[in-house]
Amino acid sequence: MIVLVVNCGSSSLKYQLVNMENEEVMAKGLVEKITLPDAQLTHKWNGQKKEIVQPIPDHKVAVKLVLDILTDKDCGVIKSMDAIDAVGHRVVHGGEEFASSTLITAEVMKALERCSAMAPLHNPPNIIGIKACEAIMPGVPQVAVFDTSFHQTMPPKAYMYGLPYELYKEDGIRRYGFHGTSHRYVADRIAKVMGVPKKDLRIINCHLGNGSSLAAVKGGVCIDTTMGFTPLAGMLMGTRCGDIDPAIVLNVMDHHNLSTKEMDMLMNKKSGVLGISGVSSDFRDLGEAAANGNDRAQLALDMFHYQVRKLIGALAAAMGGVDVITFTAGVGENGIEDRAAICEGLEYLGAVLDKERNNVRGKDALISTDDSTCKLYVIPTNEEIMIARDTKEIASK
Ligand code: ADP
Repeated sequence: MIVLVVNCGSSSLKYQLVNMENEEVMAKGLVEKITLPDAQLTHKWNGQKKEIVQPIPDHKVAVKLVLDILTDKDCGVIKSMDAIDAVGHRVVHGGEEFASSTLITAEVMKALERCSAMAPLHNPPNIIGIKACEAIMPGVPQVAVFDTSFHQTMPPKAYMYGLPYELYKEDGIRRYGFHGTSHRYVADRIAKVMGVPKKDLRIINCHLGNGSSLAAVKGGVCIDTTMGFTPLAGMLMGTRCGDIDPAIVLNVMDHHNLSTKEMDMLMNKKSGVLGISGVSSDFRDLGEAAANGNDRAQLALDMFHYQVRKLIGALAAAMGGVDVITFTAGVGENGIEDRAAICEGLEYLGAVLDKERNNVRGKDALISTDDSTCKLYVIPTNEEIMIARDTKEIASK
């Protein structure tokens, strides 16, 4: 079975074509700047790369272009579109409607539209991508895989906020959590790598990238996570503020006469390690600036490491202990110094970093000492393969 994995953003479309016989990635690529005259497609296959710059007015044209290049006689990897057996779509928000991935039907589309109210920036482009694929590949099964669904196992005491109960019942105000596909992939993978059944593990997965979240996975199910109603919650991130006293929002809006849109922008795009450092949202830039004596870059890093460590403690408490802490995504997989700083002082949990072993990037690796009772691992995430696996399973039914 050949599965096309699609991840549509407001102006971008990422794709991967996966042969599910051996989970080999046949080709992958990215369409950027959709709607702009200088839109660009970058296509990679067999160690080769091709770039096309041309106007791409909408997502339907983008999907068409992707299918053209996948079937192109020079840089294609399949003879015709008919070779694609199913399409798997990343969908950010499934609300309480979806606790697992699902075959897309007319009913499901209605539910996705309902969920858009909770993710106004993310779900609409996901829906546009689904509609574009349906129009161009009618009859090919389409599957939705949600960032939120892995977290649907959280108990009410973990997902409710201390607000009037009606806000939950009427407006769906609760913790949902995100990065679920990544957390699920890493939880599966670490159980395999350690050779221990998931049901016997208490895992804290640290997904640390531009956006960051932690998940506590006990006995194979998520019991708590750091992101909330939106992906703004938890530790400070590249440009997001993370957890703050909610009264600050009112205070700042009042004092600076900001609209909700402006406040949203401030918290989502101008805060986090960028807002603190004034340098960059990129952890490599921050490391460099800090090494060159930039105090605010150092402060931003210190805050990030401290907040991750503090949240690890909270999730360990939630599970009554932790057997393994995993690091994944851009910073988690590559940030050697970031991992070292985060793990400083985790000895009380039985987790001791081995400095030599920690000198590793982008591959499955044990990074704790042999006598650590709580293991530390780097596990590169792979959300696309998770989407492809779910799509295969659901489409074959
Ligand atoms: P996204 O949330 O956009 O998927 P990624 O998971 O790709 O983000 O993570 C991007 C982050 O990873 C950037 O801040 C980048 O600086 C960081 N990163 C990548 N390589 C390294 C590295 N070698 N050391 C530290 N951070 C790194």
